Amino acid sequence: MNFGKYARKKKLERINSTSIKLTNFLSSTLFKLIVFAVVLLGVIGVAGGLGTLKAVIDASPSIDNLLEEIEPEGYTTFIYDLQGEQVQELHGADANRVYVEYDQIPEYLGYSFVAIEDERFWDHNGMDLEGVFRAIFTNIKDQRFTNPEGASTITQQIIKNNVLSTDVNLERKVQEMYLAIQLEKHLNKESILELYMNTAACGRGTNGVQTASQLYFNKDVWDITLAEAAVLASITNKPGKFDPVTNPENNRERAVRILNKLLEQGYITDEEFKTAYSEDVYSSIQIISQSISESSSYSYFVDETIDRVAEDLTIQKGFTDSQAFNLIYRGGLSIYITQDLKIQKAMDDVFTNEESFPPVNEDYAMKLKYSLTITKDDIKENLYFEDQYDTLEEANAFISSVKAEYGLTNEDFDNKNAIEQTVYIPQPQAAMVLMDFHNGHVKALVGGRGEKKGNQVFNRSTQAMRQPGSTFKILAAYLPAIDTRGYTLATVLDDVPFDIVQPNGQTYSPGNWYSGYRGLSTVREGIVNSMNILAVRTIFDITPDLGFDYLIDLGFTTLHESVVIGGEVYTDKTLTLPLGGLTDGVTPLELTAAYGAVANGGVYIEPIFYTTVIDHDGNILLDKKPITRPVMKETTSFLLTDAMVDVIEYGTGTSARFKDVKMKLAGKTGTTSATKDLWFAGYSPYYVASVWIGYDDPQRMAYVRSYHKFIWRDIMEAAHEDLPYKDFVMPDGITSAAICKESGKLAVTGLCSADPRGSTIKNEYFAVGTVPTETCDVHKEVLICTASGLFANEYCPEGTTERRVMIQRVEPLISESSTTRFLGSIADYKYEIPYSMVGEYCNIHGPQTLIPVEDPNKGKDDKKDKDDKKGKDDPINAPIDTP
Ligand SMILES: [Zn+2]
Ligand SMILES: [Zn+2]
Repeated sequence: MNFGKYARKKKLERINSTSIKLTNFLSSTLFKLIVFAVVLLGVIGVAGGLGTLKAVIDASPSIDNLLEEIEPEGYTTFIYDLQGEQVQELHGADANRVYVEYDQIPEYLGYSFVAIEDERFWDHNGMDLEGVFRAIFTNIKDQRFTNPEGASTITQQIIKNNVLSTDVNLERKVQEMYLAIQLEKHLNKESILELYMNTAACGRGTNGVQTASQLYFNKDVWDITLAEAAVLASITNKPGKFDPVTNPENNRERAVRILNKLLEQGYITDEEFKTAYSEDVYSSIQIISQSISESSSYSYFVDETIDRVAEDLTIQKGFTDSQAFNLIYRGGLSIYITQDLKIQKAMDDVFTNEESFPPVNEDYAMKLKYSLTITKDDIKENLYFEDQYDTLEEANAFISSVKAEYGLTNEDFDNKNAIEQTVYIPQPQAAMVLMDFHNGHVKALVGGRGEKKGNQVFNRSTQAMRQPGSTFKILAAYLPAIDTRGYTLATVLDDVPFDIVQPNGQTYSPGNWYSGYRGLSTVREGIVNSMNILAVRTIFDITPDLGFDYLIDLGFTTLHESVVIGGEVYTDKTLTLPLGGLTDGVTPLELTAAYGAVANGGVYIEPIFYTTVIDHDGNILLDKKPITRPVMKETTSFLLTDAMVDVIEYGTGTSARFKDVKMKLAGKTGTTSATKDLWFAGYSPYYVASVWIGYDDPQRMAYVRSYHKFIWRDIMEAAHEDLPYKDFVMPDGITSAAICKESGKLAVTGLCSADPRGSTIKNEYFAVGTVPTETCDVHKEVLICTASGLFANEYCPEGTTERRVMIQRVEPLISESSTTRFLGSIADYKYEIPYSMVGEYCNIHGPQTLIPVEDPNKGKDDKKDKDDKKGKDDPINAPIDTP
């Protein structure tokens, strides 16, 4: 092929400026258009006719206007908060957008776009009928009606991506094809490809391959390698999905496909393929992209908003990703976001203050990403290093050693013989989300510790999947148990060794975060003290399936019913679910929204970042209404909230209490095994927020102080500074009753209150209809003979007997088969009537004959007889249901 020079001016002059007469057009391309239109109309199921078709074509913009539109300066998009205050202007990368001529662009970059986007580009006249039919066939075969690759030619894409109309319909489709054919008449293939490569959205707000080359590779487009060209050509189809920084695996897969196609279609040699295939481009892309855009970086909130608006434009409006990003960066939109600038500032202040995080001597590391390009003397090398050091000084010492190894001086860097890019990421990292749970409005979020450098960098609050630890005890175990399985806050479970033989034959024995076991405990105590065994017993009872279903309703999208990783099948439907032992983990955003559902009376509201998008002409383009659904009974949400108030007032969350502002708070801590993740999720009657701390590459933390709880407290307290005190509102359907915490049943005055550890009577809240009707059957009053240590008999003298209130588990602590080695570690064991003592009476006093042991199977009436015989002062000394 002959690739001559095409000066931009000349090319534009070649364009016929007289308007195209419809009749001329029809005579040459009528057949193809009719075929296409009929097929299209048929497939989409819209009735139409030739009359309509002519009207549609008549209504097309003229090709002159069109070409002006293809290269617009664009309109600035503005982002406002809900008070109308301007938060941000979006410029994309237009500021440094440079138009490059066809012969400045490496041939293989053009070929790469052709190979992946439009294989028959060199032969068609703007429309690729073969591609269209193929697409239709695939659609019918797969029973889907999307717009797969191949259906839209490069020429059509130029029209589609650059005509900034916001309505997408069949009419527009037909006009787009008509205009594509017109464009082909006015420009030759090379000019069209040139135009395409200068206007295509290449991700992160870039348009055109030169800007993108600068952003991703820090070089001019004429210097990029074949491997880099394939990376670039992969992005355009879906800039989000194929972003080489955030989704390198996706991009790599597509880039390799491009290389294969180039090889198949004879554009490159075997040798070139192999070199490109083995070139590692991705490791250095991230670092360059970060440092290049340091000067103009948007907040994590704005980054996230851009992604979500783009997603909604493609889903709701049918735009391609390129169209959506073009519109966002150049379409003059007004985007109204839910961010509260005051709360965001409070959050930023805490996250950029190093004192909010463990100091160097306590828990600290410096992750370093360093890239070095050397072009000096005979050396031509691209180097990339990524590692974690104990201190910043050690990281810098490493950089110095690399420079020394290659004999690089400051002069080399001044002369650009060597170019370096350095990114420091202090560890542990952190992220936080704060949301108004009444309407789903995300008010503030931070995706990392320290100053944010670069756009679309890794946002830990929406992208990091981390183990949620004990924050899942509420969501996966107690919530479903109370909501549908008859549990109450008074339900008693036994914190004693618990061994479960799993289907795979292995025994699972959950441990506690404290040493030993606490014995009989209520669900409320399980929540307040974050007791592992209680949570596992609960999910064992209600089944992991039920817990999993609730989590899906609560909006978690990263859980797996079944997933194959490396040939092994993993599932999150496990008994460790309430301890947060997941295959992948959850994001801080989704955890916040799930706790928001508990805070919001049981109604889940999808978190949103914007409310409205207005187009350049003042029309409403997007009107965001969050998904809303009831997930649990209002009474369940109140009960859980009330227990989580105790977490902050007396439990594991006391460090999160506000210092000055008076406000009712509820929350739950989360610590994962080996302290690799620290969480706090909590709420007031106004806002819900969760915070996470951990190393990017998970590792044990020292956890000397509750940094995460202090971060949560400081930011939440700032958010509530001007808000009046509020308590959580008790809904209808809640009642209360005095229960005994040892049995979970109605308390017996004089018995439960006489427990040697103090009264175990608690006034507890219940959903109406769930108040227990039986009285405590765990507390027993016994008469002991102090001389023998056994139950007193009728011969024991008055001075040697002692009345005691003890407990006796309904389910025996020790079954015949189990060992007794744990007994000493169970806190309430010493208050229990030992089974060895049951039926044994004093053997010191009385007649020489031993009192016969009572028959354990004796019925109530017999006991009553005996009691009567001994008189009413006799002890209830045989509280026997022998094991
Ligand atoms: Zn009791
Ligand atoms: Zn005695």
